[in-house]
Amino acid sequence: MEKFSNRLNRMSFSQTFVMSNKVRQMKAEGIDVISLTLGEPDFDVPKNIKEAAFAAINNNFSHYSPVPGFLDLREAICAKLKRDNNLEYNASQICVSNGAKQAIINVLASIINDGDEVILPAPYWVSYDEMVKMMGGKSVFVETSIDTEFKMTAEQLEKAITPNTKALLYSSPCNPSGSYYTYEELESIANVIAKYPQITIISDEIYEFINYEGKHTSIAEFQQVYEQTAVINGMSKAFAMTGWRIGYSACPTWLAKACEKIQGQMTSGANTMAQKASITALQTDPAEYRFMIEEFKKRRDLVFSLIKNIPGFKVNYPKAAFYFFPDISFYIGKTLNGTLIKDADDFAMFLLENAHVGTVGGVSFGNPNCIRFSYAASEKELTEAMRRIHEFLEKVEIS
Ligand code: PMP
Ligand code: GLU
Repeated sequence: MEKFSNRLNRMSFSQTFVMSNKVRQMKAEGIDVISLTLGEPDFDVPKNIKEAAFAAINNNFSHYSPVPGFLDLREAICAKLKRDNNLEYNASQICVSNGAKQAIINVLASIINDGDEVILPAPYWVSYDEMVKMMGGKSVFVETSIDTEFKMTAEQLEKAITPNTKALLYSSPCNPSGSYYTYEELESIANVIAKYPQITIISDEIYEFINYEGKHTSIAEFQQVYEQTAVINGMSKAFAMTGWRIGYSACPTWLAKACEKIQGQMTSGANTMAQKASITALQTDPAEYRFMIEEFKKRRDLVFSLIKNIPGFKVNYPKAAFYFFPDISFYIGKTLNGTLIKDADDFAMFLLENAHVGTVGGVSFGNPNCIRFSYAASEKELTEAMRRIHEFLEKVEIS
């Protein structure tokens, strides 16, 4: 009998963790590697949030919380959604999870049957396709390119819809492209989806605050799709709380109950101290944490000034999140210092082994021509990483 489930066998390891583990291993061997692999803020958790966690421990918030989260946290999330997104939710529509990752899985597990199709505009975040596969669904990819800032149009979306389409899943701001959909673009997407009541939009807004140019729009603002939309967000990126594992979904009532049912059999309520600290994070004026965004913006401009001159790289100017996703197709199919580069993953591995800079290849993001750089690193590391790659590629023997 086959030892493993078909579910497991059809999935891959998360490429972000594969590459960051490889970097860790090289560092342990004493190699001086710069890691631009994982997308996580390099700031410490702000002091007032930490203090709220200490207080929660001292006040003995050490027992199970309700499965969808403490009521006061869910109310704080509703207040945040009203304040920042002009969205109306009540606490029964919120499910607090172990990170946004679990929030997305809850929604997919609630709605996807074997063979159901989920539309993923490519490039997409690495875990989306794997999560869809885990649930027995089938991803349908909508291709985009650097020339259109990697954004899908409403026309492209409509062409991808079939009678089997059950969901549309995307992030805006986008990991890995750093683009975000404008109000008008989202409105046209909403107008398409509203024609297909069987489709649920899973709108991953975890990079909401890391937007340097525009105002964030949530697609749930469009009333025609409010009943079809699950908004996903969390603490990881906005408050540098990646390890605290708090994310959430805001759903129409029919879907919120389903998420609670799934989570209640999987993991129960999320970590209680982190939940209490999240209330403080959400109730603090976002301006208090703005310094992190200003810092990311400076780094974006620094990296852009350096990366655009790297031989063979085609880059756009990302407007949000903390990633560059340059097109490196110039190198694909070529032999570099004797190594054949078949796709972007080969190229990322080649850079890691030779220039000692860790990136993530684009294959698992749905784009085999690009590689992803996270610029959630210090200016010193970023400058040195760009120098290493530039100097290495200037000298590399290409055949
Ligand atoms: N969505 C996107 C687009 C992400 O980049 C990440 C990265 N962590 C997540 C969701 C998951 O975040 P969390 O840490 O809240 O699980
Ligand atoms: N979301 C981050 C990234 O894309 C963290 C790693 C992960 O969750 O996959 O690098």
